[in-house]
Amino acid sequence: MRGVYRYTVRCEAKDPILLAAIEHWLKANHIGDVLEAGALEAEVVRLEGENAIEVRYAFAHREAFERYEQEHAPRLRLESRSLFGDEIAWKRSQGATLFQRDASSLRVRVIPYFRDNYAYLVHPITGNKPLPCIVVDPGDALPILQALERYHLVIEAIFCTHHHADHVGGLSALLEHFPSVPVYGSEYDMRHGRIPFQNRAIRDGDTIQGLGYPFQVMEVPGHTIGAITYVGPGFAFTGDTLFLAGCGRVFEGTMDGMYASLMRLATLPQSTLLYVGHEYTQSNLRFAQWVEPNNQDLAKRIKLVSHLRAHGQPTVPSTLKEELATNPFLRCSSSEVMAFAASRGVIGSEAEVFAEIRRAKDAFT
Ligand code: ZN
Ligand code: FE
Repeated sequence: MRGVYRYTVRCEAKDPILLAAIEHWLKANHIGDVLEAGALEAEVVRLEGENAIEVRYAFAHREAFERYEQEHAPRLRLESRSLFGDEIAWKRSQGATLFQRDASSLRVRVIPYFRDNYAYLVHPITGNKPLPCIVVDPGDALPILQALERYHLVIEAIFCTHHHADHVGGLSALLEHFPSVPVYGSEYDMRHGRIPFQNRAIRDGDTIQGLGYPFQVMEVPGHTIGAITYVGPGFAFTGDTLFLAGCGRVFEGTMDGMYASLMRLATLPQSTLLYVGHEYTQSNLRFAQWVEPNNQDLAKRIKLVSHLRAHGQPTVPSTLKEELATNPFLRCSSSEVMAFAASRGVIGSEAEVFAEIRRAKDAFT
């Protein structure tokens, strides 16, 4: 990459939790913005022990960087200040090191709707507008149509994780605008006709080509029999099967089946970014702390999440690594989770421990 123009800005804050919240926000929003604004590469690096984050950029040449500095960089400072207050300081710093962006060239946008639902738009970072996109779980059409207009996107395909109305209720209105798009859902849901306008039936192990990338289909029965997780390059859409720090209620499947589904998700690469169906993270964490009061990773995560929520930020995505450390439903082999189940009279297999934790969660307020 000869001739590449590199530079770094540094963000300092005394409170490490505030810094972690900013890090989450930068990764979820700013990196996509700066890549769309013409950066070749961008990454967020936490400098442990220095109370600082570095955002490192690479531009093709100095003019591209200057254009970014004039047109886009002021927004970063404004938005970060309005979200996180004046305690943070942005500084330019020298000596950016070389780095490689390892993620795919796709961006995932979070679309909140209803009280706590999330739909997602996946689209290429660069290209001629309008860009094609994949819509995941359009429970409501209006916020999606607004986002398509705002970001100059057109729908290439729709992925449905399961048939519940809060995930598929926007399909009919979307299809009025995009009548011939493929609507994917499980073969089971197609057979039962319970995802309106579904026209593609998929099965475990299938690969869907979308936006030029392969998306793997995993059947994850439990919340519903037809539940699907879509695994793209570096990220996954788990619907109501896996939540951050929690999992969905077992409505149609069996407890054993749900546990097997979660254990399959747990075999994805630990760096996989998880995009889930609902913003339940904060209340899930309260439950998790009841189950594992001595889990230090959990205590840290609770602080981070309350920071994000206090600033109106989504807690998605997290990584599988983070879930393995803090999600009680993925930790049924840990001694503290087993002790919790034992205190409620259940000593048995991991799946039995899971079932007891799930029952405890159902009754938890
Ligand atoms: Zn559901
Ligand atoms: Fe739901």
